[in-house]
Amino acid sequence: MNQATNIAPGVYFHEGDLKGHGHCNNGWIIFNDYVLVIDGNFPSGALEIIPKIKTITDKPIRFAFDTHHHGDHAYGNRVWVENGATPVAHVGVIEEMKKYETGYYGGGKPGRWETSAKDRPDVAASKLTPPSLLFEKKMIFDDGKHRVELLHLGVAHTHGDGFAWLPKEKILFTGDACVNGPYNYAADGDTGAWIKTLEAAKRLGAKTVCPGHGPMGATDLLADQQAYFLELRKLVRKQATKKPDEIKAAMDDIKIALQKQPRIARYVGDFLAAQIEKICVEMGAKPFLSKPATTAALDEHQQHARAHGVEMPQRR
Ligand SMILES: [Zn+2]
Repeated sequence: MNQATNIAPGVYFHEGDLKGHGHCNNGWIIFNDYVLVIDGNFPSGALEIIPKIKTITDKPIRFAFDTHHHGDHAYGNRVWVENGATPVAHVGVIEEMKKYETGYYGGGKPGRWETSAKDRPDVAASKLTPPSLLFEKKMIFDDGKHRVELLHLGVAHTHGDGFAWLPKEKILFTGDACVNGPYNYAADGDTGAWIKTLEAAKRLGAKTVCPGHGPMGATDLLADQQAYFLELRKLVRKQATKKPDEIKAAMDDIKIALQKQPRIARYVGDFLAAQIEKICVEMGAKPFLSKPATTAALDEHQQHARAHGVEMPQRR
């Protein structure tokens, strides 16, 4: 962890310090004339990566690809801009930011950035900088030696997920559409669509899968992530029409059933209750977790932040 791994000529993977600093994983590809970085990270994450890139190459960092709009993947954008790079993303990232970043987009009330800035000095010291170079389905970087295809394969972890696909090396950077551990935050996406998007990602034929969080994996990692949601949805479907108290009572059974399956046990963690509720809502139920404020989704966001090493203020 926290070290750059050379996974192919000119291609690097860096597993971020999630527990300590809330950092996401990064990657970078060294083209003839410039460097393309995968994921914006938090400002402190960007500042940690940049010197590591500079010890490897003196080529300028020209592009930083945000795999989605979350703070740990996009709040470092200002740092990349200050270092000469342009943040790139799927158009859905901007649409998501318009929804959640009300502080920036003029909705008046503080958005997620402002909430994050209360607890993170690196965010407080920076400025939200939405990606300014956008693609709808695909954007290609190709200098004859390296080819990187930025792809939007559908809704998954969010409505703006982008993958970075290296067809020659068969390396896939997934952002949080695929993680390797108990890091699935589901509130901003759709778990049914997520399964289909992972199916599309599997068809690419990746040999190396670099997830948004957790260690690097091989071909099977995409199928493991997909199996987790398939299994979880199957277990929740049996409960979705029941009363809130009955669903809550069934949560432990769901947990045990998931933990029994070696392939997906590692995905079970603190987000489980919120994941179950999200799936029930997707299946037509009302939110039922006993948190007031703006519902459990917000609570899940808090948990997400906590898992990312940030204590957020308690809401009542
Ligand atoms: Zn995320």
